[in-house]
Amino acid sequence: MSDNVIMTNWREPFHRAHRPEAEFHGRAVSTACGDEIDLYLDTEDGVVTDAFFEGDGCIVCLGMASLLVRYLEGRSVEEVREMTEPDALKLATDVAIESRRQGCALVAFKALGEALRSAS
Ligand SMILES: [Zn+2]
Repeated sequence: MSDNVIMTNWREPFHRAHRPEAEFHGRAVSTACGDEIDLYLDTEDGVVTDAFFEGDGCIVCLGMASLLVRYLEGRSVEEVREMTEPDALKLATDVAIESRRQGCALVAFKALGEALRSAS
């Protein structure tokens, strides 16, 4: 894989940390690849103030998790709830993710869905 936003986020992840004190937490795994992501959110007045992730997995999974938490900060919870899988895949602006890797790319987005379910 050539250098792209997934590679650079994998190499230098944004907000990769354990955050048990976070307001909302969601976890997702991909059995196909062994990817696992925990995603943590804090909100204030309906806006995501902090987003963090931790986990293990392949480059696509971890790079996309970093891109997702970076995107989430400052967004309204309503806007985040309306995100779709294609929206999440578009965060990898300069990478066309092959269909067989989309499961890996969406583990963090699934963890986000779990976090939002815990919030409702
Ligand atoms: Zn994977």
